[in-house]
Amino acid sequence: MDDLRDLYQEVILDHGKHPRNFGHPAESNRSAHGHNAMCGDTIDVFLTVEPDGRIADAAFEGQGCAISVASASMMTEMLKGRSEADAHHLFETMHALCTGKDDVDLEALDEDTLDRIQILAGVRQYPMRVKCATLAWHTMDKAMAAKDAAGEGGE
Ligand code: ZN
Repeated sequence: MDDLRDLYQEVILDHGKHPRNFGHPAESNRSAHGHNAMCGDTIDVFLTVEPDGRIADAAFEGQGCAISVASASMMTEMLKGRSEADAHHLFETMHALCTGKDDVDLEALDEDTLDRIQILAGVRQYPMRVKCATLAWHTMDKAMAAKDAAGEGGE
């Protein structure tokens, strides 16, 4: 358990200080804004979704604590190349693990993704910070759902 705690802090510090995929991309076709009032974290998530539903690119911009930035950074890395359905499943898994649910189906995840999700879900040791860790994920899910508002059904 101490090892996991150390790994958690190491990864959060690294991604928090050097976020990947940070910035507003020139092109994206889905975006959403998220805000965590409890901590003051804000985020914009930008996705480029191909006509076949695959996420070609993911990026984010925002200001917040190390946990919120690190979670967004890791999330954008994990999203690239995934289908929308996959991304939604990842969101649900992440949310369930962070909020302490154990009846989560982890079978569908590849090993690398599972490792990363489990590191991120280390936030469950700090219940006050769970909203920081899940902010980017809620915002990503909102960005994907926004396609319906644009008039195109997709599936
Ligand atoms: Zn925060």
